[in-house]
Amino acid sequence: MLREQAERQTAPLYVCPCCLNPVRGSVFTVANLPWSTFPLSGVECPVTKLEVAFCSVCGHYFQPDIDNNKLEFIYRHIYAESPWMAGDYASEIYRRPFMELFQRQPGAGPDAALLEIGCGDPEHLRPFARMGYRCFGIDPSPMASSPDLGEKISIIKGYLEESTFNQPVDVIILRSCLEHLGKLSSILRRCHSLLKPGGLIYLQVPNNGFTLTHRPPLFASHEHLHYFTRQSLGCLLSRNGFEPVEDNGDAEPSLISCWAKGPDWTAKNAFFWERENLIESQLHTFLAEWSRPVFYGYGMAFNWLLAKIDLRKYDFLIADDTSTFHGKTAPGTAVAVLPLSKCRTEEPGRAVLICASVMYHNQMLAKVRNQLPQTPVFGITSEGIVPLWEKK
Ligand SMILES: [Zn+2]
Repeated sequence: MLREQAERQTAPLYVCPCCLNPVRGSVFTVANLPWSTFPLSGVECPVTKLEVAFCSVCGHYFQPDIDNNKLEFIYRHIYAESPWMAGDYASEIYRRPFMELFQRQPGAGPDAALLEIGCGDPEHLRPFARMGYRCFGIDPSPMASSPDLGEKISIIKGYLEESTFNQPVDVIILRSCLEHLGKLSSILRRCHSLLKPGGLIYLQVPNNGFTLTHRPPLFASHEHLHYFTRQSLGCLLSRNGFEPVEDNGDAEPSLISCWAKGPDWTAKNAFFWERENLIESQLHTFLAEWSRPVFYGYGMAFNWLLAKIDLRKYDFLIADDTSTFHGKTAPGTAVAVLPLSKCRTEEPGRAVLICASVMYHNQMLAKVRNQLPQTPVFGITSEGIVPLWEKK
């Protein structure tokens, strides 16, 4: 028992790709698993081990180590004989519930653009073309080309991540595709940026929650990198800026859902990047204008700012009124934290940074004014650097 615990503690740390919960080690390893899930005639089937990790927070199972060479072999050589790729295989159990949910949503209007990622046989796009959509399909498989598709259907052969496709679309579809993809968040962010405002994304993935209720001895295969539950899929989509519209619940073999493009988190992040650049350019200006100014009030953003600015270049002193910090090194620097009183004249330096946050130390500004009466004090805020004193 103790040995097991010790092994567990030294197992590698992974991150759940859906909810970002840390996951320690794999939950099971299959020693010998064939690379194909169907009989083959033209190619020998390798047999290797498969590791699967589990997130206890959202119920997601996933392959923690992805072998791209193995996947390349499976898709290039084994999938050439796949029954799943051919025509309308299993259209009743897979395609029909998807189309029912799809058609319950209002259409996107005449000539709306639709992209199916991992479309496989371009024939799969024909029902959408008949509904009036201008269809784009992207897929690396040899099936993803056909000479006579009509002007409503265009096929891009390859992977979305590697393509320069940037046509804004109204609808994106991923059917039996997401569970095969390694970088879930990056593909969903790409989808988010391709969708027009109000655009919709439709997903269909195997429902591992449903699979597990049938108590199979094994549910994993080499080409499925992800095993979604309704919860893990929800975490993934909402974390990447999508809002739920409709889904088929938890009791079917497939999770089928529709999501609307929501707030653009990357734009929100850009806001902070802009502030960061603004703050650095303002530091230059204020340091040129004032002798030994005090910059105050960034609290938790302390480490971030210290990493951003070159302290040696600016010759900063770092001060705090918390006595247990005095003499210790500020994170990411070689600079020791000083008491405020020391910053007056004893120490050389062009400017003083105060570590404390305005949120918790509202008396701090008064202390700074008291200890450093001749010094201009600037606040570091989300609006950039602003003066915190009355000009005389
Ligand atoms: Zn998770």
